[in-house]
Amino acid sequence: MSYDAIKSDRALCIGYRKGLAGKCNAQVLKCECGATGCRQTYAENCTEQIFDVNYKCVKCGAVGKYEVLNFVNRIGA
Ligand SMILES: [Zn+2]
Ligand SMILES: [Zn+2]
Repeated sequence: MSYDAIKSDRALCIGYRKGLAGKCNAQVLKCECGATGCRQTYAENCTEQIFDVNYKCVKCGAVGKYEVLNFVNRIGA
């Protein structure tokens, strides 16, 4: 797997959006608890959703404790 493939894999949500029958491809965020997923305006909008509209983690309940998984320098380092 190429570096670009890994990077895009990590940066875009692989979940599926309800009602759209397609890939989410939203920005992926990582919580301080280690969980990763996208943020959606509505609860349970995506199969891989982890943050709600208020940036609250659905796994651990922390609010705003996220980092953006995009242009991640440490991948491949
Ligand atoms: Zn998603
Ligand atoms: Zn969390």
